[in-house]
Amino acid sequence: LLSRNAEWAATKDPTFLVDSSDRDQRPRVMWIGCSDSRVPESVVTRSRPGDIFVHRNVAKLFNPDEDSVMTAVTFAIEDIGLNNVGVEHIVVVGHTNCGAASYASDAAENPSAVDRRRPMYRWLQPLIRLAGTVTGKRTQNLIIANIQEQVDKLAQSEPVIRAWDNPNRPALQIHGWLYELSTGLLRDLEIT
Ligand SMILES: [Zn+2]
Repeated sequence: LLSRNAEWAATKDPTFLVDSSDRDQRPRVMWIGCSDSRVPESVVTRSRPGDIFVHRNVAKLFNPDEDSVMTAVTFAIEDIGLNNVGVEHIVVVGHTNCGAASYASDAAENPSAVDRRRPMYRWLQPLIRLAGTVTGKRTQNLIIANIQEQVDKLAQSEPVIRAWDNPNRPALQIHGWLYELSTGLLRDLEIT
């Protein structure tokens, strides 16, 4: 990684070199995605440094009581960008073949088989609960239901409501997308 980084830095690409006097970042998009190594947001969207403000966690859960994701969302909406107006889009991105969704499906199906002392079990509680409400092809449907749920929770969160009440900032939109590992394509679920 270090040697590949040295090669990349040596290209001195003018679009990523930051003037030391310029302290601002101005991304228009925040990406909330899964930690999965196969869904690197900047790579799959051919983005440049500065394009995307990112929060990733296992299963890309948004919980307003959890400080890490809440800090990232509040910062993205209120404290970055030109004149601190923040991002204009938040994309919640799920993906096919998600290990966390499989785990949650299994835990919902067979609760006695999971070790409840593991942090994974605590963290994925909302997803396990959601898995209990999903029928049919459970893991696949859970992945979609989970994207929808995070979009809904974001739409009801304080920083988003504040942004929507603020006539002085650009419109803020929240989108739900699905990344398909087999094709490399992002699909808009049209739940904006
Ligand atoms: Zn995942």
